Amino acid sequence: MTDTVLVINSGSSSIKYQLVDPAAGTALASGLVERIGEPAGRVVHKQGAQTTERETAVADHGEGLRIVTSLFDEVGPSLAEANVVAVGHRVVMGGRYYDGPVRVDEDVLATIERLSPLAPLHNPANLTGIRVARELFPDVPHVAVFDTAFFRNLPDDAATYALDREVAEQYSVRRYGAHGTSHQYVSTRAAEILGRDLAELRTVVLHLGNGASASAVKGGHAVDTSMGLTPLEGLVMGTRTGDIDPAVVFHLARNAGMSIDEIDDLFNKRSGLKGLTGVNDLRELHDLVAAGDSAARVGLDVYTHRLRKYIGAYAAVMGGLDVLAFTAGVGENDDVVRADAVRGLEFLGVQIDPELNAGRMKEAKVISPAGARVAVLVVPTNEELAIARQALAQL
Ligand code: ADP
Repeated sequence: MTDTVLVINSGSSSIKYQLVDPAAGTALASGLVERIGEPAGRVVHKQGAQTTERETAVADHGEGLRIVTSLFDEVGPSLAEANVVAVGHRVVMGGRYYDGPVRVDEDVLATIERLSPLAPLHNPANLTGIRVARELFPDVPHVAVFDTAFFRNLPDDAATYALDREVAEQYSVRRYGAHGTSHQYVSTRAAEILGRDLAELRTVVLHLGNGASASAVKGGHAVDTSMGLTPLEGLVMGTRTGDIDPAVVFHLARNAGMSIDEIDDLFNKRSGLKGLTGVNDLRELHDLVAAGDSAARVGLDVYTHRLRKYIGAYAAVMGGLDVLAFTAGVGENDDVVRADAVRGLEFLGVQIDPELNAGRMKEAKVISPAGARVAVLVVPTNEELAIARQALAQL
């Protein structure tokens, strides 16, 4: 019987899960528990074409996972018969501790907890998910897969902020990155698709979802990435500023009388495309642009300007560029953004073929013209599959 891995991504009020067949690269079932701890919760379980929904209050993560296991029993596939050999957990912050997946034990739990100040919204929620899953599935190994692991060994020049060294050291201020599982998966897949040796490639990955990040991957190793101490730095995102002069914080605190918490909320939730244009979904943004909305036009231009800037910067960091890969919701689906992101980059050898680029991509595809110096691809990301494979490799 084929081995399967249950992948769990636990948020503060949600649990996403997927039962994965790592060898086949397929999901046997997937689902989502939403609004945990609220009066009206919801569980959606999908198996093949069949979707089962439950509207019910979910008191806590433990109850959420119990509902999920009962849905597996009732709707299938049966977890008892699925030969689950491991549970893989997505964990956001692994700090300086982990450069790969690790089997969960008490020490690992304590470390994830200790790192919570660096990811206050995520690590405590990830920890809760691991704890309840270990109680429900006590007989299989649990493996933590960190969003930061791929960037753990960034060169010091890319990872170090030009901040007073003692302060940086004492408060663990450095570039940790995020979306690492996706950047690793996509850069590796791109080389496979091209039939080229990863060790010889200089790749830029643009992971463009609601959160967005860029990475520079040289010879299979990450050498730079746009997210920093937190996922706020770098590209323009759905609701986050990305790069901004830190003095904007001082300016707003002194002149607008805003508190640190208010500025945190402004930068993380009310900025980016949403702050510039009123919408954070690219589909709605294109509608506004088409209707002649000038703020939407500027917003889209700011978004793609930042992309071009990072592609150029990372080509410089790596001493050249061989592969450019687009992924995640925007990267896979938005041909306008892809075309605009490479506009004017012919000098780097970056070109895309408008016909190959047209439309949404469900499968990986090369979109640069034959013979182009840089291979440009769309590679759908699959973090659950990557987590499942890493968990399995850890056994
Ligand atoms: P995350 O995982 O960060 O929440 P996703 O990778 O799922 O985000 O990406 C979600 C975003 O993808 C949406 O906010 C939207 O901007 C974009 N998106 C999804 N479908 C399309 C589409 N057909 N065309 C353009 N953009 C799309």
